[in-house]
Amino acid sequence: MTRGPLDGMKVPRFAGPATFARLPTRAEVEKVDVGILGLPYDNGVTYRPGARFGPSGIRQASRLLRPYHPGLDVSPFEPRQVADCGDVACTPFDIPQALAEIEAGVAELLATGARVVALGGDHTIALPMLRAVREQLGSPVALVHFDAHLDTWDAHFGQRYTHGSPFRRAAEEKLFDSDRSLHVGIRGPIFGPGDLAADAELGFRIIDCTQVAERGPAWTAERIRERLGEGPVYISIDIDVLDPAFAPGTGTPEAGGLSSRELLQVLRGLKGLRLASSDLVEVAPAYDHAEVTGIAAAHLVYELLGLMAAE
Ligand code: MN
Ligand code: MN
Repeated sequence: MTRGPLDGMKVPRFAGPATFARLPTRAEVEKVDVGILGLPYDNGVTYRPGARFGPSGIRQASRLLRPYHPGLDVSPFEPRQVADCGDVACTPFDIPQALAEIEAGVAELLATGARVVALGGDHTIALPMLRAVREQLGSPVALVHFDAHLDTWDAHFGQRYTHGSPFRRAAEEKLFDSDRSLHVGIRGPIFGPGDLAADAELGFRIIDCTQVAERGPAWTAERIRERLGEGPVYISIDIDVLDPAFAPGTGTPEAGGLSSRELLQVLRGLKGLRLASSDLVEVAPAYDHAEVTGIAAAHLVYELLGLMAAE
């Protein structure tokens, strides 16, 4: 018997616990099938800091989520038990130590048989997530990465572990299947054409933002499915894949992004894929207005939970 979110007809949605969608905590359930896990780490940012407040911001903006998803015809919170597993208490002062602490926190939850939907945090956290998932599965996952940015740069100010490099490090460590990997939503200025060549050498394919706009969400979802093939998939969503109009509260915004409607439709088009685990990163509430970014993030997480429920 699963335990769902607090009943909105009994306790109004602006009241009650600050868990994601007012779900039960880990301590309140017998077994967790899908764990929402906050990773409040932002020492890898290259521009605006503040994503350490992402988990609490997304949770606050998730209060209005309701239990049935008509688009996918599922209840994301059942029959599998979804619970809010709190935050990993990682140090804000030491990058390697923080990454080790995040990996250990994620691995501990995965070891119980749960899948993880991580709330970032900056995009650095995708690296310890992928390390733990690789260890759990015993083989590399397929990877779809939604982002304005490639995040395959080598180093920044000599630092190799930043939010601009997680997928280069992950490729070097063979954490995902490079023949089943792609970026979606890429746009904006880069350092030079060599960035794209270096990214392609790692095996990535790209569906850029213009292609999504011109061909549409259904075409995009179909291309993603072709690339991912069979087997478990990891979805990583950087909220800056959305246009700053839909997600102003983030660290490195780029004009000309996807609408939240487009991205939700693309994700809906992935129904039936087998999700291993996922992350949603780079929500920085201090730059947000009227919870615009937090609400988009909460709905994207709801969509990921819906995909897991729809398998
Ligand atoms: Mn980005
Ligand atoms: Mn990113």
